[in-house]
Amino acid sequence: MIEIRVDEEACNGCGLCVKDCPMGVFELKSSVSSPVHPENCMGCLSCHEICPAQALEHRGVVPCRRMYVSMKVCRMLNRVI
Ligand code: SF4
Ligand code: SF4
Repeated sequence: MIEIRVDEEACNGCGLCVKDCPMGVFELKSSVSSPVHPENCMGCLSCHEICPAQALEHRGVVPCRRMYVSMKVCRMLNRVI
């Protein structure tokens, strides 16, 4: 299972990870992101890309899952691979 950690000192509470995560993993609690549903994480690392504070850490991500960008891109990839 993927383990998610939030650096609470670094997190600025912008909420971008909450809006960006396609699996609803995060919620803001007292202006800090909290991974309330880590079991839903599919390891796309989109939240890493968008976090301006580099406050997120994931452990146990399978490297091939990092290809996920969006469902539109996945459908395009399905046609060529
Ligand atoms: S995107 Fe980063 S800085 Fe913004 S709420 Fe999420 S963890 Fe915090
Ligand atoms: S890696 Fe993807 S699914 Fe997992 S918490 Fe980040 S945005 Fe959500």
